[in-house]
Amino acid sequence: MKDIDWNDYSLETQAIRAGHKRTHEDEHSIPIFTTSSYVFKSAEEAALRFTGQIPGNIYSRFTNPTVNAFQERLAFMEKGERCLAFSSGMAAIMAVGMGLLKAGDHVVCSRSVFGNTLLVFQNYFAKFGVETDFVDLIDIKAWEAVIKPNTRFLFIETPSNPLIEIADISALADLAHAHNSLLIVDNCFCTPILQKPFELGADIVIHSATKYIDGQGRCVGGAVIASDEIIEKFIYPYLRTGGATMSPFNAWVFLSGLETLAVRMKAHCDNAFELAKWLEQHPSVSKVHYPGLASHAQHDLAQRQQSQFGGIVSFELTGGKEHAWTLIDATKMISITANLGDVKTTITHPGTTTHGRLSPEARAAAGIKDGLVRISVGLEGIDDIKNDLLTGLQL
Ligand SMILES: *Cc1c(COP(=O)(O)O)cnc(C)c1O
Repeated sequence: MKDIDWNDYSLETQAIRAGHKRTHEDEHSIPIFTTSSYVFKSAEEAALRFTGQIPGNIYSRFTNPTVNAFQERLAFMEKGERCLAFSSGMAAIMAVGMGLLKAGDHVVCSRSVFGNTLLVFQNYFAKFGVETDFVDLIDIKAWEAVIKPNTRFLFIETPSNPLIEIADISALADLAHAHNSLLIVDNCFCTPILQKPFELGADIVIHSATKYIDGQGRCVGGAVIASDEIIEKFIYPYLRTGGATMSPFNAWVFLSGLETLAVRMKAHCDNAFELAKWLEQHPSVSKVHYPGLASHAQHDLAQRQQSQFGGIVSFELTGGKEHAWTLIDATKMISITANLGDVKTTITHPGTTTHGRLSPEARAAAGIKDGLVRISVGLEGIDDIKNDLLTGLQL
């Protein structure tokens, strides 16, 4: 294969071509290497590979060619130095914590992160003497107020779920760095197509590949992207030992997901924007949360920080929980599921599902109203999506 530096190519091209090291079989599509271990030419070579003096595969918990291809491709796309793949998005988040934290450390985490991310800090790292403060994503003063000399990192998701609030990545990166701390961004909602956290100062980017990277709801996987130094010192040793490795089959699915990510994200954004504008006009809808709308509180920031506004729309019905459930049950085509980032449109009632375990007070404090409905807008015809919602909106 010709020696090409993929840094010289566009994101769209990297997504399709980077990471494939063609074998002696001259295959055009990346093969799935289903092998648990690798063979050494001699006892000496085995010894040198184990000490790391010569590079090469040892065992598929550590490295695998199909997984490597996925890692390399995603690293290019995020403009990060190195990527490591994990068995799920949560495994990636767990790895960052296990790799970077020790007893006595402190973390500041946005209150509006994925539910299991909250639980990782609250229920697990807390058991081992890591203290976490949870703060309002968009209130930079709240972050400043709790950051301490032992704060190891700040953790955010932007846009947030389900209220689609936008954090100022540059401002939080500056705050973290002024305190000798790191900024970690879960870039699952935007993907590198819409947002590049490293260009804004982030130190570590996390993905749940399960969502837009797969894009068709087939596999669970995750990734951590960071500098060579962070990966080599903190994340890779944990992956190799902790074992939450991505399977070669899933890596192969995610590789083909990456190949269509740019066109899918644009189409998701176009459909979502159109749906948001349409919902905003409907008399049963009191508020639409979508950063593309001028009515969104961080519309300007979203415009600066993202290339488009994303595929997730949430909205509040004047009729509260009862109308929300009626609307959801009246859909014929849209899938009632909490998953997101799929070509199929999905609908969910956060108050009784993803955020149902919160107390009513905590839910109210988080701004999640009883009439809130979240839609992950898919790639079906936009008129079919609107029509599927129209029946329930009118009830
Ligand atoms: C789904 C999700 C995760 C967790 O990923 P899994 O692949 O389900 O483990 C983390 N962060 C965000 C923003 C998510 O949506």
